[in-house]
Amino acid sequence: MTDGKSIFIDTTKCTACRGCQIACKQWNQRATEKTINLGNHQNPSDLSYNTWKLVRFSEIPGEEVTWYFFPDQCRHCLNPPCKDAADRKVKGAIAQEEKTGAVIFNSKVKVKPADFKGIREACPYDIPRINAGDGMMAKCTLCFNRVSGGMLPACVKTCPTGAMNFGDRKEILEKAKKRLESVQGKYQEAMLTDMDDVRVFYLLVDDPKKYYKRAVADNTIGITRKAALKRLLQPLSMFG
Ligand code: SF4
Ligand code: SF4
Repeated sequence: MTDGKSIFIDTTKCTACRGCQIACKQWNQRATEKTINLGNHQNPSDLSYNTWKLVRFSEIPGEEVTWYFFPDQCRHCLNPPCKDAADRKVKGAIAQEEKTGAVIFNSKVKVKPADFKGIREACPYDIPRINAGDGMMAKCTLCFNRVSGGMLPACVKTCPTGAMNFGDRKEILEKAKKRLESVQGKYQEAMLTDMDDVRVFYLLVDDPKKYYKRAVADNTIGITRKAALKRLLQPLSMFG
């Protein structure tokens, strides 16, 4: 596989317009959902089988109220733990696209509830979702069908502020590092999230937990293939 593609999401430029959320839903023809007013800017409340991109909103009260916007989606891990989990139980349910590196859920493979539980729990960002009715999983595809035709992912194309950046991984990593350097004078806690392990990463300027509890990988679950393999080998080592 080549270095593939990456998305860099610069949250300092995000205004929470939710254009990316709507563009994702439109391009991928996902059904609308009944939602409730949560008393804040976020809607719906969580990702779902039909919502692959969600602009999360967090408000921190204090002397000066601060808002944090986090456009959440699959990070397209370089060595995806969801695929490791799926390969054990439901062969062919998850694949990695050769040119982009996108992690793709096979829309024709049914997954049993118990197997899906293992797949969802393997994801350090809690991304996989399932349609309980037919056992089909779904999530962001990195718009590989657009990208293979020379177009930008729908979310990137629609972003009016430059918060969403897409391109060859090497160039996007360079762009993100330069942007990090340029904001570090103003924001001492500025960071790029898990960029060595994932294709979709973020520039944050404060404690990641203030944005969203899974803004960075939950390392009690494990992000690396090494960690995933260790888990896979556990049952064998019990007999060794
Ligand atoms: S973020 Fe989760 S669903 Fe996406 S590739 Fe990584 S493990 Fe799989
Ligand atoms: S389209 Fe851009 S500015 Fe609007 S919510 Fe998405 S990332 Fe933020």
